This record gives sequence, C-alpha cells and structure tokens, in this order.
Amino acid sequence: MKLETACIHAVRDATHSTGALATPIYQSAAFAHPGVGQSTGYDYSRTQNPTREHVEKLLAALEGGVDALAFSSGMAAIATLMELFSPGDEVLATDDLYGGSIRLFDSISQKNGVLVRYVDSSQLAALNAAITDRTKAVFIESPTNPMSKVTDISGVKKHLGSREILLIVDNTFLTPYFCNPLALGADVVVHSGTKYLSGHNDTLAGFLVLRTQALSQKLRFLQNTIGAVLSPFDAFLLTRGIKTLALRMQKAQENAMKVATWLKAQPKVREVHYVGLPEHPAYALSQRQARGFGGMMSFSMDSAETAKAVLNNTQLILFAESLGGVETLITYPVTQTHADVPEPARLKRGIDDKLLRLSVGIEAAEDIMADLEKAMK
Ligand SMILES: *Cc1c(COP(=O)(O)O)cnc(C)c1O
Repeated sequence: MKLETACIHAVRDATHSTGALATPIYQSAAFAHPGVGQSTGYDYSRTQNPTREHVEKLLAALEGGVDALAFSSGMAAIATLMELFSPGDEVLATDDLYGGSIRLFDSISQKNGVLVRYVDSSQLAALNAAITDRTKAVFIESPTNPMSKVTDISGVKKHLGSREILLIVDNTFLTPYFCNPLALGADVVVHSGTKYLSGHNDTLAGFLVLRTQALSQKLRFLQNTIGAVLSPFDAFLLTRGIKTLALRMQKAQENAMKVATWLKAQPKVREVHYVGLPEHPAYALSQRQARGFGGMMSFSMDSAETAKAVLNNTQLILFAESLGGVETLITYPVTQTHADVPEPARLKRGIDDKLLRLSVGIEAAEDIMADLEKAMK
C-alpha cells in the first residue's frame, strides 16, 4: 500500500460494529469488565482508549514501527522518553534543536542527572568524537529548526555500530510522508503531532514510534505511569488530519519551492535556508534519505529593521509560533523559539535579529509571495 493510501486506510475501526467511516470518539474514562479476571482489552483510558489506539496503530503503520504511543504534546512524548535514562547517563543531541527540547534537556534532564551535550550532528566525525562510555542515546532533529541542517541518519547508525546507544530522530518536519527514520536505522521516532500530522493548528499531540518490542514495553509502562496521554477527542482530530497528510505535504512543498526560489531574487533578502534548493549543502543527502524536502525554511534580511517590518506588515501570513498547518506562518526565532538560548550559542548557529522562519502553508503560492513582497517594501 502506498503512503497516501495508508494515511486513509492503514487502520480500520477495530470494533466494526456500525460501519462508521470515521473513527468513533470513545469519550470514556473507564471500561466495564465482562467478569472477574476478564477485560474487553480496555480498562482505563490512561492505559489505552480505542480512539487513541486507532491513531497509534496508524502512526506505527506509516513509520514502519512495531508500536506507536500517542501523547498530549510533542514535549510530553520527549519528556516521557527521557525517563528511559538514569543519573550518570549521557545523551548527545543535535545542536540546532527545537527550543523546547533544549529547555527540557537543560532544566529537567540535567537536574535528574542525565547529561545532555550538544554536537553538530551533521558532522559525523564531531558526533563520533563526542561519544563516551556513558553515552546512552543520540537525539537527532533533521532538517533542523531554523537553520535547515541535515544529519545523515544511516551514517550516524553506522558510527554507532553494535554499541547499545539508542538512535532517536525527531521527524516532525518531514513526517512519515517524506521520511522514515526507522528504515534508516533509528530506534525511536519522535513527532510533534501538533504540526503537519494534525495539520490544522487546532490541537496539540505527540508520538513515539518504536523499532522493537522491548522499547515498546518500557515506554508503554512509562506512558501509563506518567499519564501524559492523548485525549480521545484529540486522537480523533489526529486521525482526521492524517487522512489529508499526503495532499498537504505535496502542496506545502510545492509552495515552499516557489517561495524559496522567489526569495533568493529579492534585493533585501541575503540568504535563504531551504533544503529543497539545489545549492543547499545537504540537497543530495536529503534526496538520498527522504522522499521530499518539506515546507520549512528560514531566510535572512539585509537588516533587523527590514526583518521586523516584514513581521509587522504581512497580512495574509500570520505572525505566530508553531508550523506545519494549512496557513503560512512567520516567526522571529531570536525572540520566540530561541529566546531561551544564550546569545553566544545563538549567534554561533546563525540565529540573529535578521533571521525569519517561514512555515509555508497550502494557500496559492502567488498570494504568499505577494504578501511578502508588500511587507518588504
Ligand atoms: C513543536 C515541536 C516539538 C514540541 O512539540 P509540542 O507538540 O509543541 O509539544 C518538538 N520537536 C519539534 C521539531 C517541534 O517543531
């Protein structure tokens, strides 16, 4: 089954009792037992709920995992995942990481005795040199936010070899429609379902997709114990959103290509970071490990004044955090997503007050460009 078909048909309602095409919302906290020592398969919705189970099976099918777990947000998924580690353990993470993940690692994981160190994972030699006897996991985001750096996932896997180091990939930006990290050697795939999977900026969600039964068992225990699960209604919204994932990803990418090409030709734009541009340093690598480039980009203006003018003057494009929805959104990483990152570290990564990030939506590309053009004047 092709991925666009799988998005719609990979999982059918397990109950099959009414023939409903849409997954029913089982808004029930608990489920009655048929008798002593018996269960319908559902006992209490923190442990499992049929609506959540449906979207979990769907994600597992799309990513090619043995199991997928749905959480109340991407951060809930990552925070639960970090409970796999114990004091003294080390985790290596991509340096150009989602700001919320950095905040979690620096303020909570470190406090719990798990040392998270940041490396430029797009440089395999640097990553390899940073591994120690205590390294228990490598946490990769690719392409990164906002600088669009790409890590060679199977290259990292080769370096890890047979060592017992988990390879974790945050696949939020490409989604299973464009990339399947498990097939490239990852053990865990992380998603903020809030973004492309839900696709409509109307709910938060997170997922962990797992390569092995052993990981599934450990994380099911942690999910049930910690309890940051996806609610039945939100699980319904995710299943509904994923039905159009293929169409939305295709259109967002097509628009992103047009907008990036157009941006390059604008007199006040200095640099455009989009993996789909043939001159992007990781263009060839992206083509090898993914089926597409996605709809995320960043670009630098000639001055902070022009950057702020763009933020203030776009009308169609909304100045809002988040990404991956039907509407085009623009953000200012320096004061938003990366406000918590100390200035020297921020500047080292190229995140300055001239940089804007664009999540290209599925409107007409002409309207997106016309809005940017007016705002840049
Ligand atoms: C948004 C995001 C997260 C966090 O997800 P939430 O659903 O906002 O908690 C994690 N990783 C990436 C790449 C993201 O964009």
